[in-house]
Amino acid sequence: KRAKQTDRIEIYEPEAAMLSDNRFGLETALRSAIEEDRLKLAFQPLVELGSGRVAGFEALARWDDKDGSPVSPAEFIPVAEDSGLIVPLGQWVIAKAAKVLAAWDSDNGAAPVECYFSVNVSAIQLVRDDIAAVVRQALETNAIGGERLMIELTESAIIGDPDLALSVLSELKALDARIAMDDFGTGYSNLAYLQRLPIDVLKIDRSFVDHMVEDRDKAAIVRTIQSLAEVLGMKTTAEGVETADQARLLSALGCDFGQGYLFARPMDGPEAFAYWRESLLR
Ligand code: C2E
Ligand code: CA
Ligand code: CA
Ligand code: CA
Repeated sequence: KRAKQTDRIEIYEPEAAMLSDNRFGLETALRSAIEEDRLKLAFQPLVELGSGRVAGFEALARWDDKDGSPVSPAEFIPVAEDSGLIVPLGQWVIAKAAKVLAAWDSDNGAAPVECYFSVNVSAIQLVRDDIAAVVRQALETNAIGGERLMIELTESAIIGDPDLALSVLSELKALDARIAMDDFGTGYSNLAYLQRLPIDVLKIDRSFVDHMVEDRDKAAIVRTIQSLAEVLGMKTTAEGVETADQARLLSALGCDFGQGYLFARPMDGPEAFAYWRESLLR
């Protein structure tokens, strides 16, 4: 019996330890990357489907490990959420986005650049942090208006504590910031909260846009989200727009904005600024 137990320990323990070591290693490396200001932002345009105008950019966190190879957000965001690092990470994203906007303004001859940045805020940050205070500080430090920032929240952030969500969103609205419901349609379909909350934009999840041209069911879901948004006085942004056919169909359904590889992949700051300037000439 004893021998068997020892076997077990010898066989399974190293593996388990390695797995948690790797996660812990990632967490440690991410913590120092945040502290040492080594994260970056990538910017992906949000395009008005009717006019082709660039309305804004979603600011997405990027992290290159010590060897310089990029770690996918699909890998480090969950680690950040489990470890609580998502709070300083989210604060960094908001502060950095505001700083980049102010830099764009001055590069543009101090005439404010007419576009906003949309930033992702995790459900955990909504509960643990004072997001409105973080946003207010970022706006004041960089002397930019609240209408230049949009906050993307998922349905799960709201479902967890709808009363808290209502008070935080109201504070953000008081700063003139806008609110988008991210990945809309993938969460719990409790529609009652939608009408109670000051949401400006529904972001139609990529899973519905994907194959919407061939798949009538997916197109029907997009149409339904669109009518819901119209009834509630909200705008819509379709995620993951990859083809011109998708963009045409979305536009025909009344969708306001599109985001996806058809327009551009996420870009670094200088590339995004050049993209914005060029879009004015189109
Ligand atoms: P998301 O908020 O849904 O962000 C959109 C994701 O879709 C981005 O992936 C973007 O690169 C990708 N994407 C955009 N257009 C297309 C397209 O046409 N086709 C396809 N296949 N994909 C497209 P990314 O940057 O890898 O981010 C993944 C997720 O990680 C984000 O999903 C978001 O949930 C999370 N994330 C990224 N940055 C942050 C952040 O700063 N804070 C928080 N809390 N989450 C973040
Ligand atoms: Ca998002
Ligand atoms: Ca999304
Ligand atoms: Ca999505």
